[in-house]
Amino acid sequence: MPIILKLLSFLLLFPAFSAAAEFEQDLTLESAVGREVPAAPEAQVVDGAAADYEGYLATLAYYSDIAYQAVPGTEDYLEASIAGDYLRRKVDEIEAGLGASGSPMSLNGDPVRLHLPSEKVMSELRGVFGFGTEDGRAEPVTIKRGFAKIVYVKGSTPFLVQDDSFLNKGEIILTFDDGPAPGKYSMAVADNLKANSAQAVFFVLGEKLGAAGKAIIKVEAEDGNFVAVHGYNHATETGKPFTAYTTGKTLAKLGQAAGSITSATGVKPALFRPPYGVIGADALKAVITGLDLVPLGWTIDTMDWSVKSPDELYAKTIALIKQRGKGIVLMHDIHPQSRETVRRLLQWFKENNYKVVSPDRIVQAFRAQQGE
Ligand SMILES: [Zn+2]
Repeated sequence: MPIILKLLSFLLLFPAFSAAAEFEQDLTLESAVGREVPAAPEAQVVDGAAADYEGYLATLAYYSDIAYQAVPGTEDYLEASIAGDYLRRKVDEIEAGLGASGSPMSLNGDPVRLHLPSEKVMSELRGVFGFGTEDGRAEPVTIKRGFAKIVYVKGSTPFLVQDDSFLNKGEIILTFDDGPAPGKYSMAVADNLKANSAQAVFFVLGEKLGAAGKAIIKVEAEDGNFVAVHGYNHATETGKPFTAYTTGKTLAKLGQAAGSITSATGVKPALFRPPYGVIGADALKAVITGLDLVPLGWTIDTMDWSVKSPDELYAKTIALIKQRGKGIVLMHDIHPQSRETVRRLLQWFKENNYKVVSPDRIVQAFRAQQGE
């Protein structure tokens, strides 16, 4: 059954079941299958990308609907995670190019309202990520005795799934992807962590490590955070995930990013997370042995790309953490809503007996496993 029908029937059968519903005050059914997409921002010159703005926004809204409704770990959930991250990037790029200051909609504002995706954009996603069909489904590949594994989303897109069994109840590892964000943005996150005696992992991009970026990660590392490898760029030259590279090219690009981190912080990075969580099993094994990097996925995806309101993201993140009781939390320090949420979250952890543990736990657990 197509995802939209599954979601629709789920909502019709279990309207009160929606995890997001408890955060919404004024639910209406009037637009249950309607499409509410704002017009593209005003612009003097509307180029091809801007002409596609509504399609990207509608499809982002569609995946935002799914993000908090799908059961964590299921294929629908992983697809939403991959596609939503990609689409948020597209929408932000177009808005920045137009000089607009963000879409006016709270994308996930109403869990009863379902958005219809653009078929053109869905086709683009299939092309970029290689989403296949349910036929020809590949078996999961265990990486290093079950610590992480590769599952195949939509039959053919390899996705890194993390195991957090090395964490005890109440233990949290915080991770921030895609930085360092310029100016004071990433530093605001680092300052909040420091004020709470907490450390996190910053999965950074080599392309952002000019002089200013290097100065930021130097401070992050001095505070005891792990500065780790996300990629050199977030995608290949053609906008695809690392699966479009040969293993050799993947190693070269990641090695370049690792070198920049080492030169800026004086510490060789220990951890790696592929953009979108998408990487092939063979390439991942080569990264582990060739670059001596430990792969780290996540077990709590805040889906922070889907929510613009810090209040909404904070409430949803807490609900996700309570539900699992521990985990490796994924956020992006490039998003304003995420930076505000982590500030409040650190306080909430203290008041609710959660402990932010050092990322070194993953390295120790992985090494112990290798030595078995
Ligand atoms: Zn990323």
